[in-house]
Amino acid sequence: MRITVLAGGVGAARFLRGLRAAVPDADITVIGNTGDDFTPFGLHVSPDLDTVMYTLGGGISEEQGWGRAGESHVVLGELAAYGAGPDWFGLGDLDLATHILRTQLLLAGRSLSEVTAALCQRWQPGVTLLPMSDDPVRTHVTVDLDGREQVLHFQEWWVRLHAAVPASRIEPVGAARARPAPGVLEAIAAADFVLFPPSNPVVSIGVILAVPGIAEAVRAKTVVGVSPIIGGAPVRGMADACLTAIGVATSATAVAAHYGPDLLDGWLVDTQDKDAADAPELAGIAIQARPLYMTSVAAAAQIAQAAVELAGQVRR
Ligand code: GDP
Ligand code: CA
Repeated sequence: MRITVLAGGVGAARFLRGLRAAVPDADITVIGNTGDDFTPFGLHVSPDLDTVMYTLGGGISEEQGWGRAGESHVVLGELAAYGAGPDWFGLGDLDLATHILRTQLLLAGRSLSEVTAALCQRWQPGVTLLPMSDDPVRTHVTVDLDGREQVLHFQEWWVRLHAAVPASRIEPVGAARARPAPGVLEAIAAADFVLFPPSNPVVSIGVILAVPGIAEAVRAKTVVGVSPIIGGAPVRGMADACLTAIGVATSATAVAAHYGPDLLDGWLVDTQDKDAADAPELAGIAIQARPLYMTSVAAAAQIAQAAVELAGQVRR
């Protein structure tokens, strides 16, 4: 079985760990969001790729859901002593090694997909991890701050401001000119079906779909998604602030309607949201309700198993 998954960070990584356990023999390709990438201290950080790589490779901090287990912050402390910023992004010492090496390899002329493959040599995530594009895409957020309109990098809005300042616009800058990374369209075309994990519909899945060619390729396949919204709220993080910015309500039904029946064939909602099955705007999408909290690897595996089974039922 070949499965291709579009992935953000923590929601995707936990789902993927379950998927790998549920279908150990499947050939899984993960297409990771790079719109969150940024370059503090000149280092190329790819938060979503790293979250997937560390989680599947056994190096993740379970408590945080991102970053390395057993982390220290000596380097960041030294930088702060120089008064150097940003001081709001938790770059741990172990994690810094990844960013230093990624930056070095990029500066030596390797592409982000080559670098990602090189880093995965160490972590052996058990999936093929591809960045959505080797071209730069940076998600920018427009906010009204200090009495004027400002455009911030996504990380500054999300991490420094905790997305507490309403966004009037979220734009994946560079996406329109970006090309899918080598292997991305091929992996989608070769897949038996495509899964959307419970990732942020706007700044994770939405940004991947904004790379020309990817949405078209996905639309041609059977697609099953898992709702990141349960009972009208994100399970963690501030996805509600992203949905509000694009005029989509924070509900499992509204997110599925936003993707639309052209894209989605099946949609898993939490038991709390079982009424989605009767929503007229979701006609044409097979809705199934089941517990969707990924409280353990076993719970995530059951959700992944349900997604795989639903894909088998709705397969075009
Ligand atoms: P990020 O890049 O780290 O923000 O991660 P993603 O985009 O992959 O996923 C973020 C989304 O995962 C958020 O909208 C959460 O609501 C969702 N999420 C996190 N944990 C769970 C869970 O246990 N169950 C479900 N259904 N969604 C979850
Ligand atoms: Ca992310």
